[in-house]
Formats: sequence, C-alpha cells, structure tokens
Amino acid sequence: MTLGRFSLYRVRGARYNSIDLVHHGMSMAEGVRILVTNDDGVHSEGLHALVKALHSVGEVAIVAPDRERSAVAHSLTLHHPLRVEQIGPQTYSVNGTPTDCVNLALNGLLRHRGPHLVVSGINKGGNLGDDVTYSGTVMAAMEGAMLGLPALAVSLATKVDFLFEPAARFAARLAAHVLREGLPAGTMLNVNVPNLPEEALRPARITRLGRRIYSNGVVEKVDPRGRTYYWLGGADVGYQPGEGTDVEAVAAGHVSITPLHFDLTHYSALDLLRRWQL
Ligand code: MN
Repeated sequence: MTLGRFSLYRVRGARYNSIDLVHHGMSMAEGVRILVTNDDGVHSEGLHALVKALHSVGEVAIVAPDRERSAVAHSLTLHHPLRVEQIGPQTYSVNGTPTDCVNLALNGLLRHRGPHLVVSGINKGGNLGDDVTYSGTVMAAMEGAMLGLPALAVSLATKVDFLFEPAARFAARLAAHVLREGLPAGTMLNVNVPNLPEEALRPARITRLGRRIYSNGVVEKVDPRGRTYYWLGGADVGYQPGEGTDVEAVAAGHVSITPLHFDLTHYSALDLLRRWQL
C-alpha cells in the first residue's frame, strides 16, 4: 500500500486527514474501513453479496435505506426526521435516501471511525448512460466522492436471474485496487457488470457514458375507479451505438468502469455563451 497518494486524497475530506492512519499505526490490509450502501434497501441480496466479498478487503459498515429507493438520484431528506435502527453488527437501516445514508454515515454515525472507501450496490439492474442521473446507487457513490472519499457504484446489468457473486468478487478486487492507487479527488467509478458466470465475464473496459434511446412512452390508462393514471418508463427501447461506451462494453460481455465526477459544466459551451450579447 502506498500511503502517499491515498493520504493526498484523504486530506481533501473535511473530516479526514492523512495522519489518523499513521497515528493508529495500521497497515492498510488490517486497518481499512469500507462504507456500503445501496438504493435497493438494506435487505437486498445484492448488498449482502457485496458485503460478503468486501470482507476480504476490509472492515465493512452498512448504512442503507430501510426499503427500496431506486431512482431517487441524489435527493436529500430535509423536511422530516431521519431515524436509524441498528439491525446487526455494523449494520444500520435508515428511513431515508441513499444520499442521506452516506451523508449521515460520514458526518454522523461513523465519524469517529471514518471509512476510507464508499461502495454502493450491487444494484439490481444496470446503471448505464443517462441512467446515472436518475440512479440512487450511483448518486450514493457520488455523495461519497463529494465528501472526499474514493467511491464505487456497482450495478448488475440484468432485470432477472441475478448472478451477484461474480460481480461482488470483481467489486472487491476493484475496491482493493482503488484503496491502493487512490482516485482523483471528486471522482467515483461507475461499474456495470454483465450478468454472466465468472468464467464468461470479459476483462474490464474503461468507458464513457452512452446515450439511452427513449420511447415516447408515457403510458396513459384508466384505473378501476375511472381516473386516468400515467406510467413512466415502461418500454426499454435501448441505447445509441457508440464506440467506447459503457453500453457497448456491457453488451459485449465486458465489465464497464466509467469514471464520473460532479462538475456538470459543459466547458466547450462556455465560449459560445460568452459571445452572446446579454
Ligand atoms: Mn436500485
């Protein structure tokens, strides 16, 4: 373990500094702590497969929503109290969003034994292309990155017959790698794993986000009491083909790793807009 780069990263976090590891005299192998969360809820099978695999990397604390909160993106609960229930050793169930969980863990529950890495998942379903903007799984990891820690979001790209173990083992290997190498500040890795047995998984590719093709599909129906209702996102139409994208990698059986950061500024549009006479 090279502490140097890791420490550099850690000093950017408000509540972490580079010397606490040194003070504790820990070797990374025995001293590393990992926060696990998700958006499928604390009882999700994907979370438990992930935790089991991460035990080989470090000490795991789970702070996760008490129920499924998929597609809540980066929402934060500000208008009702958050309640926390400890439901097992180092396992906390929260009546909030994935972002609440990470924020609460890093600023509250775990602040005296702060984690070194945030891992979110394993989500039941891919988070590819445009999906990252809706995803609670991805934005939980983003919250970790925004609070100064390296972070991973891990999603299994299927809707049925989930094979969590190969994805979990890959996530653990990647977690160890990230802890060793560090990540640029403010960066998280969005990982999507094809739903394949381990021997069929192809090597990881570093990718960019693809683009989803949307159906014009708001479904309008009438409920049994005669009122109209609407259903969003019914049809899964697909993705635009694009070389080097996360979508293409997963479709070809590769694990996809996309580095994301939270600066949404469109830099090449700055000059264009500055020429406007406003
Ligand atoms: Mn989910």
